[in-house]
Amino acid sequence: MESLTGGPNSLYRSALALLDETAAALRLDPGIHQRLRSPKRALVVSIPTRMDDGRTRVFLGYRVQHNITLGPSKGGVRYHPHTTLEEVTALAMLMTWKCALMGLPYGGAKGGVRCDPETMSVGELERMTRRYTSEIVLAIGPDRDIPAPDLYTNDQTMAWIMDTYSMQKGVTVPGVVTGKPVLLGGTLGRLEATGRGVAIMVEEACRATGRPFAGAAVAVQGFGNVGGVAARLLHEAGCRVVAASDVRGGIYNKAGLDVPRLLQHVRENKYVEGFPGADRITNAELLVCDCDILIPAALQGQITPANAEEIRATILVEGANGPTLPEADAILARRGIFVVPDILANAGGVTVSYFEWVQDLQLYFWSEEQINQRLRALMTGAFAAVRAVAEARGVDLRRAAYMLAVKRVAEAKRLRGLYP
Ligand code: NAD
Repeated sequence: MESLTGGPNSLYRSALALLDETAAALRLDPGIHQRLRSPKRALVVSIPTRMDDGRTRVFLGYRVQHNITLGPSKGGVRYHPHTTLEEVTALAMLMTWKCALMGLPYGGAKGGVRCDPETMSVGELERMTRRYTSEIVLAIGPDRDIPAPDLYTNDQTMAWIMDTYSMQKGVTVPGVVTGKPVLLGGTLGRLEATGRGVAIMVEEACRATGRPFAGAAVAVQGFGNVGGVAARLLHEAGCRVVAASDVRGGIYNKAGLDVPRLLQHVRENKYVEGFPGADRITNAELLVCDCDILIPAALQGQITPANAEEIRATILVEGANGPTLPEADAILARRGIFVVPDILANAGGVTVSYFEWVQDLQLYFWSEEQINQRLRALMTGAFAAVRAVAEARGVDLRRAAYMLAVKRVAEAKRLRGLYP
């Protein structure tokens, strides 16, 4: 069993530190604070998978349910070679706060499989996904725990999970996952939801700080589901996307990248590299490039004390989960950089996932316009609520968001009491 204590840069360590700080600020009951520090359940599974060459490989998989006080737990599944139980536990905790902050009737969970999806075939990914699903089948369900896409998983992955679960139950259960293809009970707008939410937060951050939105120079680290969509929507809204990157590195053009053409380039070539008319930069250079708005939308731990001093953006919107180390956070605050924290900035995904689940339970589907309107209303409402707390308590948006979220879960725990 892996240790959950974490190294100095561990996401779990920073998640616990933020919870502890919030608990102190809220004068939380110590018993409830203790209960919120630990995950409710953590499942570790072996996933034997037949590879294309006929050999069997055993992958390690996780599903952690941090909390179910407000409802069934909700959270993505990531495929990554460095995923650990500790990382997934931290991300599950973040999901608890994110759902509570957005007022959704969910607790938080996260799943992961330690694998290198970049080197696996579609067939290998499908067999691994199906076996992972069957190993965690007792833990998930539309009224228990509802997975969704995250790093290197997508609507196809969700279709396989939904099919495997449904085969085992003998009936089709669309509500067991969100982020499915629309034809299988997915919702319109889910593919874009997280990126759309990020773009809405950029708009709100500009409005709140009085900085211009039209023409603002944007740099996006990670050009996947979150970063790619956020870049496209910001480009369409009149921002200048000057830099974009992925696992191989990035590109920069001071005049602005043609984002629709870049997306086409990535569809054809998988990576941003080689896009005509732009200079090559590294991921490290992207974070400190000349821009107004920085959107980390790849991995955690990207903004460090080493680069926080060099960041030139004045607004940072956290598309990724946990992209900023706590020590870097303090530097950004000192430098007056306006940070929209992950549990708010990337909450568009789980919000539209909630809409998808509601539609699946009712077997009644909404228009894309309704979904986007409701997403905007919930995101801007949450932003305003977080800002109000930040102003009232004299704290930054991250601390304010945590106060709102932790208070809701703690209050629900108090009302439910301690079993038995
Ligand atoms: P994705 O797999 O669609 O895209 C990830 C992108 O990051 C790819 O462009 C990949 O090449 C790039 N990347 C991978 N490793 C990198 C590295 N070392 N340096 C730079 N870039 C790298 O994943 P996604 O769904 O867009 O998720 C991105 C982040 O957003 C993750 O932190 C995830 O937890 C978070 N998030 C995703 C959702 C969602 O709905 N998909 C919701 C909330 C938060």
